[in-house]
Amino acid sequence: MIKNIALVAHDSRKDELVSWVKFNAGSLSECNLYCTGTTGRLIRDALTALRGEDIPPVICLLSGPLGGDFEIGAMIAEGKIDMLVFFCDNLIMQGHQNDVMGLTRLASLYNIPFATNRSTADFIISSPLYKSREYQRIIPSCIESYKNRKLQ
Ligand code: PGA
Repeated sequence: MIKNIALVAHDSRKDELVSWVKFNAGSLSECNLYCTGTTGRLIRDALTALRGEDIPPVICLLSGPLGGDFEIGAMIAEGKIDMLVFFCDNLIMQGHQNDVMGLTRLASLYNIPFATNRSTADFIISSPLYKSREYQRIIPSCIESYKNRKLQ
């Protein structure tokens, strides 16, 4: 079951992510929302304006360029994040582009549902699997193989 969701948006796409969160506030109401700092502040403000006190926990980590992308990446590697919505700026190279690539690599490696645009986020959140208690994400076997690799 999707319980812990990470939400990140670069500045040019923060409005888009906030709009998506507001539209899906009902589906997100039983989740914990882990966000990079500024994204989280905007999401918390928008949800509070929409629903008052009745909002899910919004946990604001460090701002992305200041280490927040790494924090979320580490949580993914530790199995603490079930889904990532990351609206990247596709037109401008970020000063912390390496962090962006690291986060997207870990989301892919650990096989978590991962949306980089609104359509994909819509498909994920409207999937029957989103609320399924039975669905178990497969942890790719390459992770265990890598841990146990033979070195001379
Ligand atoms: P921010 O970080 O939410 O603190 O702006 C996002 C990012 O640029 O990774």
